[in-house]
Amino acid sequence: KSKKAGRNTIRFFDPSLESAMKQQATLEEDLRIALQDKQFILHYQGQFTSESKLTGAEVLVRWKHPEQGMMSPALFIPFAEESGLILPIGNWVLETACNQLAAWGKLPNMRKLVLAVNVSALQFRQPDFIETVLAIIERSGANPHRLKLELTESMLVENVDDIIQKMLTLKAHGLGFSLDDFGTGYSSLSFLKRLPLDQLKIDQSFIRDVHSDPNGAAIAKTIVSLGKSLGLNVIAEGVETSEQREFLANAGCFAYQGYLFSRPLAIQDFEELAMGALIEG
Ligand code: C2E
Ligand code: MG
Ligand code: MG
Ligand code: MG
Repeated sequence: KSKKAGRNTIRFFDPSLESAMKQQATLEEDLRIALQDKQFILHYQGQFTSESKLTGAEVLVRWKHPEQGMMSPALFIPFAEESGLILPIGNWVLETACNQLAAWGKLPNMRKLVLAVNVSALQFRQPDFIETVLAIIERSGANPHRLKLELTESMLVENVDDIIQKMLTLKAHGLGFSLDDFGTGYSSLSFLKRLPLDQLKIDQSFIRDVHSDPNGAAIAKTIVSLGKSLGLNVIAEGVETSEQREFLANAGCFAYQGYLFSRPLAIQDFEELAMGALIEG
């Protein structure tokens, strides 16, 4: 075994692997600097009712990289999860979102808006997750009823009772929960039934082909009715065309997010959009 391992370590000196490791080390260093230098910003993508009333927004982090420009979270979140840096990044996102909610609490047109914040499995799994979230809310003065956390199915392979307990505690403080990217992960239906969710988010991969792929269409329809039967609010993400919207409306979907309604926007642009929009509630 040791001989084999010894031979394998030779790969360490493979120049392409070495440069890949260097890149990882650089990325980690860059992310640490990004935290310190406040290079992250949040974009806000509106969420709408079937009558196009604005209900709130999903908060999406971006990295204003000094050399590489605006960087998508799809590129750095997986690495931030691996390195553990998602913990301070996630706290920063939550804190910034809560400060925003607190500021909006004083504006008549913004007061009712709900912000949805993505939470990584690693964050949710922290033993002090609840305390951390509650402390951030308290410090900011945000109304916890205006905060929704988006979980993914990937975190649900853990101890389910533990997850449910954490969700119930936060729900008792007013927070809501949405299951993001629904249909792409592992969750079984019995499991779904047990989770104290408020919302199911149909993954955009099912929305994309509702008009070209009969199976995709069937799945999208089924998720809408499944969610409704479980008493959940169902939101479709990645809605880009009015055909998709119409299909979803016919399937009974009440909530929408996607480029057809709005792109993710910088805060000033989102506030401008909200000022001109009809607000639900
Ligand atoms: P997600 O939570 O599923 O977010 C939806 C993604 O779909 C966003 O990508 C959004 O910009 C994109 N999108 C929205 N509408 C449309 C549309 O109509 N068409 C298409 N093609 N795309 C649309 P984004 O901003 O690149 O974020 C990617 C993923 O990164 C997110 O997927 C989420 O999993 C993760 N992420 C973003 N911000 C955070 C964060 O603060 N914390 C954590 N843990 N993850 C985050
Ligand atoms: Mg999300
Ligand atoms: Mg999603
Ligand atoms: Mg996603």
